[in-house]
Amino acid sequence: MSNLAGKVAFVTGCGSLGGGWGNGKAIATLLARRGAVVYGVDMNSDAAEETKSVVSEDGGIITVRQCDVTIADKVAESVKECLEKYGRIDILVNNVGRSEPGGPAELSEEIWDDQLAVNLKSAYLMCHHVLPSMEAQGAGVIVNVASVAGLQYIGKPQVAYSAAKAGLMQMTKTTAVLYAPKGIRMNCVVPGLMHTPLVQRLADKYASGDYAGFVETRNKQVPMGRMGDAWDVAHAVLFLASDESRYVTGTSIVVDGGLTARTP
Ligand code: NAD
Repeated sequence: MSNLAGKVAFVTGCGSLGGGWGNGKAIATLLARRGAVVYGVDMNSDAAEETKSVVSEDGGIITVRQCDVTIADKVAESVKECLEKYGRIDILVNNVGRSEPGGPAELSEEIWDDQLAVNLKSAYLMCHHVLPSMEAQGAGVIVNVASVAGLQYIGKPQVAYSAAKAGLMQMTKTTAVLYAPKGIRMNCVVPGLMHTPLVQRLADKYASGDYAGFVETRNKQVPMGRMGDAWDVAHAVLFLASDESRYVTGTSIVVDGGLTARTP
């Protein structure tokens, strides 16, 4: 099941800030475990190197590089290096993203622009540079990591993040249609409330640092009674990246323990 032997997977945000298992780290590790050669980028080189150690100790093959995926030249350099080194990119996972609090009146223009850059422009830049090589191959798979915040209000003000993730989902649908005749699939994984190291930083931003209280609130919001974790996201990415999902394109898998299915 989900054998990725011989595939080359490019994963953005492959590290995890603060140790533990973030989504990108789990995705890189799981794809490598299923046989993919992984090329991971992260703006934090220590976080990327940590993922490299984990994958290498696991027996996987991985190259990592420091890269801010909101900067066009840096994205172009990384894609070029990956193609020179491995000859192709079969799987692209656009995982980078983060949320800043605020509604339109509170958000500064600078933070609004940053949120759109990190959560949406990054995926455009990666696609801009990777799609031509996938088109030349006549095959490829792109998985974008969105958020339930892009589907509906989930209890905290994060208007720029929500708008960017909604944009990412619509970009996925329209790009999938354009590239379906070319053998390229594109889908989203839409995580709900996941217990990654990001939660500590969210508690600082949204709950004045009350980590325990913030965790309890998040758990209570979910019909299953608990947050998911990075592996729940990684397994959905694995399915969409593998041939088992060969007839799936232009859609999303929501991984949220029932959060968005419930009427508040
Ligand atoms: P994380 O902060 O643990 O990991 C993200 C990694 O991306 C970090 O290593 C960071 O250095 C890197 N990164 C950030 N900006 C970058 C940039 N411009 N260029 C390159 N690397 C960059 O976060 P996470 O919780 O694993 O989240 C990953 C994805 O999952 C994001 O898109 C996030 O929006 C989404 N998500 C997370 C949750 C959650 O509850 N944790 C919920 C829904 C969606």
